[in-house]
Amino acid sequence: METDKIARLQKYIDECNKIVFFGGAGVSTESGIPDFRSVDGLYHQKWAYPPETILSSTFFYNNTAEFYRFYREKLIIKGVKPNIAHIKLAELEQAGKLSAVVTQNIDGLHQLAGSKKVYELHGSTLRNYCTKCHEFYDIDFIAESKDLPLCSKCNGLVKPDVVLYEESLDQNCIEGSINAISNADMLIIGGTSLTVYPAAGLINYFKGKYLVLINRDPTHTDSKADLVIHDKIGEVFSQIVIK
Ligand code: ZN
Repeated sequence: METDKIARLQKYIDECNKIVFFGGAGVSTESGIPDFRSVDGLYHQKWAYPPETILSSTFFYNNTAEFYRFYREKLIIKGVKPNIAHIKLAELEQAGKLSAVVTQNIDGLHQLAGSKKVYELHGSTLRNYCTKCHEFYDIDFIAESKDLPLCSKCNGLVKPDVVLYEESLDQNCIEGSINAISNADMLIIGGTSLTVYPAAGLINYFKGKYLVLINRDPTHTDSKADLVIHDKIGEVFSQIVIK
């Protein structure tokens, strides 16, 4: 990895104190969570329906058992831990340098690493609610349920607090993300190819000093960035010193 790029990233981080991190699947792959949309990811594996169909609102209500068969196998991953990127971001927040993490991931790993201000654009597998009485259920309840996870209070269907296809993002979450990004002095975009909308459109609200992109592969935003690092996000963050 180019050491001069790491030195520049370090300089930018040292200078800024309202950093926002905008992250995608690449942040979690280093914790062993497969990327939905990568070539080797679960979107190219064999199921009776394409994952985009299974993970839609219509499918959830019409083929609930099949939805959960897929969901339990592919979206609930046991024993995953935050990696060095999650940990460094939590430390940056603790040091008063980072104001928010905006993530497209649904695994809750930023919070597990200690991050407090996290906007989860696509929800979280850790939160599940009864569709009738809104009783909360944790991920183990879903993982251990057979066929349909039904509410123990009212027998209603329990649904993950995950934004499915055909569903819109949570308005409070969008507003919070826009507010954080538009007030940021530095925006670090990491582990995302910036192809999933509307999430990817949020970065257009940034008007601060430094736009940094860290991604294994090039993205269409590379040309707009002050610094582009094509590497694994964990490798990059492991070299950052928090002062
Ligand atoms: Zn209920």
